[in-house]
Amino acid sequence: MWFKKGALLALLTLAQFALGIEDYYKVLGINKQASDKQIKSAYRQLSKKYHPDKNPGDSTAHDKFVEVSEAYEALIDPESRKIYDQYGHEGLKQRQQGGGQQHHDPFDLFSRFFGGGGHFGNQPGQRRGPNVELKVGISLSDFYNGRTTEFQWDKQQICEECEGTGAADKHVDTCDACGGHGIRIVRHQLAPGMIQQMQVQCDKCGGRGKSIKHKCPVCQGTRVVRKMTTVGLNVERGMAEGSRIVYENEADESPDYVAGDLIVTVVEKEPSLNPEEDNPDHLDGIFFRRKGDDLFWKEIISLREAWMGDWTRNITHLDGHVVRLGRKRGEVVQPGHVDTIPGEGMPKWHEDGDSVYHKTEYGNLYVEYTVVLPDQMESGMEKEFWALWEKWRGKIGVDLHKDSGRPEQPVIHDHDHEGHEHEEL
Ligand SMILES: [Zn+2]
Ligand SMILES: [Zn+2]
Repeated sequence: MWFKKGALLALLTLAQFALGIEDYYKVLGINKQASDKQIKSAYRQLSKKYHPDKNPGDSTAHDKFVEVSEAYEALIDPESRKIYDQYGHEGLKQRQQGGGQQHHDPFDLFSRFFGGGGHFGNQPGQRRGPNVELKVGISLSDFYNGRTTEFQWDKQQICEECEGTGAADKHVDTCDACGGHGIRIVRHQLAPGMIQQMQVQCDKCGGRGKSIKHKCPVCQGTRVVRKMTTVGLNVERGMAEGSRIVYENEADESPDYVAGDLIVTVVEKEPSLNPEEDNPDHLDGIFFRRKGDDLFWKEIISLREAWMGDWTRNITHLDGHVVRLGRKRGEVVQPGHVDTIPGEGMPKWHEDGDSVYHKTEYGNLYVEYTVVLPDQMESGMEKEFWALWEKWRGKIGVDLHKDSGRPEQPVIHDHDHEGHEHEEL
């Protein structure tokens, strides 16, 4: 590098000076009327995003991380927020010089929110909490169309009330019984001149080395609370069933360790018949079944349709477009026959590291036909069938009178039809 680091720093400082420090509300992406809860939630989100552990070597992210922590501290304290609202950065600077509140180490602040000593566990020797695995049910139409949705789970979080201290006044003393070590040495004299030393857990502080006068009323001194937490989920078009999405360090939090990962498996859920409960736009999917990139559909047709053709059906696909099925007059559909319709299956989803989705590729749609027989034959229909039957028999040359020993054709009971014998095989 042809310039010195110091020179670069000076340059950066100058630039900052010229531009002025970014407005604290802007930094947190909130408005001036934001509640404490909104400030906290903005901090939670942004401090994770810009944490240097997640952006190694990125000095912009590092600066952002510091900025976010400064903005949080300035706005979460009602007194300093008032000064800031009235006099801006200059007002806060004067207050600090006058012995007011100082900025804390941004990593300390971070650890009050997320535990783990302010880091994500890249540091050697840092304890890591367990991963949490969840299954989230997604409807087939959401797999087909893609959807940005969210889910909730009961997450252990560091108590915001006491900031993970467990104390009502957020003040934690060093345990006077063990001097903060959490253990005490107990000496037993076994015999004159023979002393046994034993380490025991401090009974006064329960081994934590800290004592609090008044327990936090929210967490009862446990420092953590379980709360329903909303997590955003991006279902990409054609995403594979059973895909796993990892949310780094989003599992249960504790002041004692770095949160593990939240791992979400996306599974297909049975379509709901209640439109309120599900995505109201896509109540279909009830008859679609998915297998990889392909879709399966069962279509019911009448005996007349199967035999004589001349019918159409409109299937409403998972995004609402219509797939037309049908046969021309005289086109027979055998029961159980399967039509293959290319390009009407699932969008093909490729996981090329970055989960690239190729717009033009789709799997197949397989339509299987079920033929239902009428409960009762109408007389008009019967005539038509007999005419067809005769024609068909003549065409393939089947002689029903020839005893082949084994019936190859359906048994036909002819009760009252003139001109035909009673046939039974
Ligand atoms: Zn103790
Ligand atoms: Zn608490």
